[in-house]
Amino acid sequence: MMKITGCLTDVVRVGHDESITGIHIVLRLQTDAGVEGISYISRLHDAAPAALKVLQIYAERIIGMDPLAPEAIEDRLLLRGRPLPWFEARAASAIDVALWDIRGKAAGQPVYKLLGGFRDRVPCYASWRVEPSADLDKVAQSAQRHVANGFTAMKCHLGPLSLPRVVEHMRVLREAVGDNVDIMVDVNQLWSVKQAITFTRALAPYHPYWLEDATSNVDFGGLRQVSEALDIPTCAGETYFTIASFRPLIEGRCVDIVMVDQDLGLSGALKVAHMAEIYGLKVVPHLATEILAHLIAGISNGLTVEYYPWAMPLFREVPPVENGMLVLSDRPGLGLELDPDALSKYRCDI
Ligand SMILES: [Mg+2]
Repeated sequence: MMKITGCLTDVVRVGHDESITGIHIVLRLQTDAGVEGISYISRLHDAAPAALKVLQIYAERIIGMDPLAPEAIEDRLLLRGRPLPWFEARAASAIDVALWDIRGKAAGQPVYKLLGGFRDRVPCYASWRVEPSADLDKVAQSAQRHVANGFTAMKCHLGPLSLPRVVEHMRVLREAVGDNVDIMVDVNQLWSVKQAITFTRALAPYHPYWLEDATSNVDFGGLRQVSEALDIPTCAGETYFTIASFRPLIEGRCVDIVMVDQDLGLSGALKVAHMAEIYGLKVVPHLATEILAHLIAGISNGLTVEYYPWAMPLFREVPPVENGMLVLSDRPGLGLELDPDALSKYRCDI
């Protein structure tokens, strides 16, 4: 039996083009077979030191366990039945992702095949560079640059804007890319139910592809009301870090598209994806493009992958985008190899 022997962690601050930076904790989970599982955690802000500590404690807690038994490891980490605070759940999920990487490497298979192997290329959308700005010409140019780089879909975050600015932003984007590009709208729970309905109806001439996080993530009735009132699909789920949170969302038919974050681990995200499938719902991932693309390729109800490249400079090679599709590598595991030069270049103190 293979055994977990420990872990290495690096904290890095990575910048990608002029628009996005992030602090990530990179995890390398080690085994006595020399197989190493890679993962990373993002969006930590002030909690980075605490998250790092928890991650190290958790990795220590599973030393000697079989990395091919992620359910047994989750049982030890998550103390089933007692929900963890978010960054503890996040540390556990990073370990889960590293376990899937080890599992794939041990089997000589890419992770998406172990997750179901539905396909090896998945639709994706650009999720940066087209955000609200006073300079709408620049937004239009960025949108055209995405299309020139092979994207056929993109997302903007319009929550903080007034109704005229929301409409103006969408008009500029639609005119910049034409009718054959999908444009998703995310409002990060910033609209009321009525606002979500009124604002989104006003966008009808510009054909938004979906409305994401229309209103508060705990207002399941409100999400359902928005969804029922609109003709376009609605989407939510990125903020939930336990599988149980998805029950009211899915059972209540509050959205058309279920979004899963890496905080669920690949194991948790797979469970949610299967529940969504039972209800005839599509699944999309939140961030962690290189990792969660495996889930979307693995399952039959995956819709599209959010392409957000803030951690990509850490890896020697990342999946390319061809005609709107993200092409997964057939290398074993997640198919990712950390670039040691990048790790030293981006290492930072927290
Ligand atoms: Mg979102």
